[in-house]
Amino acid sequence: MTTSPAELVGFLYCDLGGVVRGRFVTEDEAARRMQTGLGWVPANQALTPLGTIAEPNRFGPLGDLRILPDAATRVEVPDAGEAGPLRFYLCDAVEPDGTPWDCCPRVWLQTVLDRFERETGARVVAAFEHEFQLISAAPPATPFSLEGVRREGAFPGLLTAALQAAGAEPETFLPEYGPHQFEVPCRPALGLAAADRSVVVKEVVRDVARGLGRRATFTPLLDPDGGGNGAHLHLSFLGPADERLTYDPAGPGRLSELAGSFAAGVLRHATAMAPLFAASPVSYARFAPHHWAASATALGGGNRETLLRVPGVFTGAGGDPASTHLEFRGTDASASPYLALGAVLLAGLEGVREGLAPPPILEHDPGSLDASALRAYAQRPLPKSLSAALDAMEGDPVVRGWLPEALLETYISVKRAELEGTRHLDAAALCDRYSQIY
Ligand code: GLU
Ligand code: MG
Repeated sequence: MTTSPAELVGFLYCDLGGVVRGRFVTEDEAARRMQTGLGWVPANQALTPLGTIAEPNRFGPLGDLRILPDAATRVEVPDAGEAGPLRFYLCDAVEPDGTPWDCCPRVWLQTVLDRFERETGARVVAAFEHEFQLISAAPPATPFSLEGVRREGAFPGLLTAALQAAGAEPETFLPEYGPHQFEVPCRPALGLAAADRSVVVKEVVRDVARGLGRRATFTPLLDPDGGGNGAHLHLSFLGPADERLTYDPAGPGRLSELAGSFAAGVLRHATAMAPLFAASPVSYARFAPHHWAASATALGGGNRETLLRVPGVFTGAGGDPASTHLEFRGTDASASPYLALGAVLLAGLEGVREGLAPPPILEHDPGSLDASALRAYAQRPLPKSLSAALDAMEGDPVVRGWLPEALLETYISVKRAELEGTRHLDAAALCDRYSQIY
């Protein structure tokens, strides 16, 4: 007699390193658990992406938590190969009495979004634009080519259908510059849903690839000498009546006063908040000049070497200039999207509070400018390593003050343990290790 497999539903929790962990139940059990959640272990928060538990951590073997599903996040991808349908909810971590846990990044991001709206009157619309690579021994197709897409067979079409089923609203499938590198930009979403969508997109991409016997990696850097996989964060602001508050045709860079001050705040705090958006030891090589990531801590227009830019929009007939928005290019998939989005918003909010002047627009390749010419546009360059970034964060009272104490302490401890656990690896081995994790 054969039994058909139970179809399991994941209660998933995106941890400090953007790794998705969780527990799995049948649909019936899930329905019973929507209010009460499932048990969770506080020390899980101290897990590094390497799978080790960071010491010291304030939890040890003690305590209890729940992971509580958010019904609005339900994902269902019907046919994902041998593993069966992919079904899950994203969860908040809460105390056993149901109150929010102050160490949960998803809970924290909601508090940041509320503060942002209270202080600026604006709601945040955002999208993480993830690049990824299919691991392959085959020689790569020429970049951006039809050949590069068609030879992946069913993958592009199955992925697009799966992302649609998951509610992620995919817009485009495109071959990118790197070997076997692709990108699937999805529509922006409001606040918390934007960070949720980042989690969903990565998991669905990995799942569809797995279903075809492939592996997709979002590692920030697959080849120490190659370009990276970014997760550029696109941001705009909506007023109470859905007015678009990012655009002003007369403003510098076509940015409103709000967006200009926001941009200045982001650049000012970028160095000290770097561990929150570039969270792994391989993240920092991505920022090397000519990687089209973020070699200058400046605001650009069409510039793909600046940390922040205002991407061009179509201004011909049928175009929508008011869709002008900001693109933050520092983020990668080793960051928790909740922490990365929250940090960028708080940095921008500091700029808004202080009424900072909009940054000048850098329209040159930063590599073509000497240091003094660059200083007119750019803040301090991003740190050269995760270790230097953590030092900068620990030395910056403003950025430290953004996170609840338990979350900050655990984050730093996890990242320091991750550095210690990878210290023995050379650049190639490090890239290899991270391609297995992300
Ligand atoms: N791969 C580049 C990065 O690591 C981005 C290239 C582009 O799409 O502009 O951010
Ligand atoms: Mg790209």
